Amino acid sequence: MGWTRSGSTILDSVLGALEGWVSAGELHYIWERGLLEDRLCGCGVPLRECPFWRDVWVAAYGREEDRPDPRQVVIWQQQAVRTRHTPRLLRMGPLPTGWEPLDAYAPVAAALYKGIGEVAGAEVVVDSSKRPSDAALLGVLPGIDPYFVHLVRDPRAVAYSWQRRKATLDLQGATDAEMPRHSSLYSAFGWLELNGGAELVRRHFGRHRSMLVRYEDFVAAPAATVERVAGMAGELPDKLPFTGTHTVTLQPNHMAGGNPTRFNAGDVTLKPDTEWTKRLSRGSNLLTTLTDAPLLRRYRYPLLTLR
Ligand SMILES: [Zn+2]
Repeated sequence: MGWTRSGSTILDSVLGALEGWVSAGELHYIWERGLLEDRLCGCGVPLRECPFWRDVWVAAYGREEDRPDPRQVVIWQQQAVRTRHTPRLLRMGPLPTGWEPLDAYAPVAAALYKGIGEVAGAEVVVDSSKRPSDAALLGVLPGIDPYFVHLVRDPRAVAYSWQRRKATLDLQGATDAEMPRHSSLYSAFGWLELNGGAELVRRHFGRHRSMLVRYEDFVAAPAATVERVAGMAGELPDKLPFTGTHTVTLQPNHMAGGNPTRFNAGDVTLKPDTEWTKRLSRGSNLLTTLTDAPLLRRYRYPLLTLR
C-alpha cells in the first residue's frame, strides 16, 4: 500500500526473488490495462499472449467460457474497491456481504491470487497495486492469508519524480511514449489520501499483519527490509537474493503493471535517489510540504527541506 512513485515496483521485484514468493505487479490493473488495453507483461510479451498468465487463467477460472469478462470486472472494481470504499470494506464480514458488486468481485479476485500461486509454485503472492481499498478487500477473500506493507516515500521526492520525463515501455510499438506527468498538487493530495487510507488498513489488521516501510530505509539497507517483511509473513527463506549490500539479482518476472523497472532482470543496484533535493522547485516543495504536513512528522520526514 501507498502512493505512486514510492519504490513499490522494485520492492515487489525484490520480494518476488525470494524462494517461494512471486511478484504479481499491480494486479488491480490487470483487467483494464493488461486484458483490455493489452499492455506488456514484465517478461516483455503482451499480457494476453504471455504463457504464464495463460496458465493462470486456466488455473483460476477453468474453461475459457467460464472466465470473467474484463469489462464487467472493471465495473465491479469501480463500484466496490475505490479508495473511498476502504472504511466500508474494512467493516465487511465474510462473503456474501450483501453488497452486490463486492460479492461478485471477491471470488474473482480470490481465484486470481490462488491461480498465480499455483502456477508459480509460490506460497506468497506479492501484489503491489498500492491502493488501500484493494488491501482492505483481502480481509473478505476466502482462503487468503493477507499481510500488508505500507510503503512511504518523502512526498517532495515523489513530486519531483512526477515532474521528470520517463519512458513508459509497457505500450506495444510505442517506443517513445512517456509515462504521464502530474502537478505537485495532484501528487501531494494523492500522497495524503493513499497514505491516510493505508493507515486505516494497518490500524485494522494490527502489527502482526502489517508494517510501515520507508523507501529511504529500504534503499539504505535492502536486505534488512526484506528480512522484516518476510519475517512478518512467516516465510523467510534461508537465502536472500543479494550479491552485495545494495545489489540484488532479479529473475525475469511476469509482473502485470507497475513502473518500467519491472522489465529489469539480472543484477540491479538499489541506491538512494536524492536529485530532488537540488532540483525540485521552491514552489513545488512548499506546496507539497504544506499539503502533506499532517503526515510528514509521523513518517519522520523533516518539514523544512528547502536549501
Ligand atoms: Zn509474462
